[in-house]
Amino acid sequence: MADRVNRRCGPPVDGGCRARALFWPPWRPRCLSCGERGAPGRDLCEACAAALPRIRFPCPTCGLPSPVHPCRDCRLSPPPLTRVVAPFLYQPPLDRWLPRFKFHHDFAAGRLLSHLLLEACADAPRPDALVPVPLHPHRLRSRGYDQALELAKPVAHAMGLPLRASLVVRARATAAQSSLAAASRKENLRDAFAIARQARGRPLPAHVALVDDVMTTGATLHALARCLLDAGVERVDAWACARTP
Ligand SMILES: [Zn+2]
Ligand SMILES: [Zn+2]
Repeated sequence: MADRVNRRCGPPVDGGCRARALFWPPWRPRCLSCGERGAPGRDLCEACAAALPRIRFPCPTCGLPSPVHPCRDCRLSPPPLTRVVAPFLYQPPLDRWLPRFKFHHDFAAGRLLSHLLLEACADAPRPDALVPVPLHPHRLRSRGYDQALELAKPVAHAMGLPLRASLVVRARATAAQSSLAAASRKENLRDAFAIARQARGRPLPAHVALVDDVMTTGATLHALARCLLDAGVERVDAWACARTP
């Protein structure tokens, strides 16, 4: 799987356009927010793009807005992530687009979200590999596709980064995080991830950026980051489209 994906991720030629041509069908841009004509090459008009709930002054290690960096919480309890890139608050219209992509196969929403994530990550420290947060196979079977992987593919291609979709596996099924309170989320994720059997004993990328659709409490990304750091990865960042406040 990883090899197949890697072969599709050559060096960047013309960024997003090349990525879209490979991974998404051709389309006429139409703004997903207001229905008017989209800006050239994307399903969003300029007025709606300017009105997106962008996070101002995010804390580098948790992504939440904060006047001081790192924020108080991250100073008291440093998270395992070195840098979080999450450009938008999980508010309208992101809270419509992300579920439409995740649960209703709305690939126009997915294409736009991937594009926005790519823009946000363009200036981020460059990792050695992207690792989408893995879905458990049971959930993958019921949903039919993996939204984190689909978001990560065009980003990896446009940035010329290897996509290591099979590096980490869900070691056991966990309850959906969205159904649990914050305290139970951590417990739910204990030992939830493991380095995939076929990747054990092979060199790991030194610097990994995890890719997910939304960062909520961060419990999933932290658990995955700890798994990678324990295995010998030196630095783990997280890239997500949106952050819940
Ligand atoms: Zn619009
Ligand atoms: Zn913070």
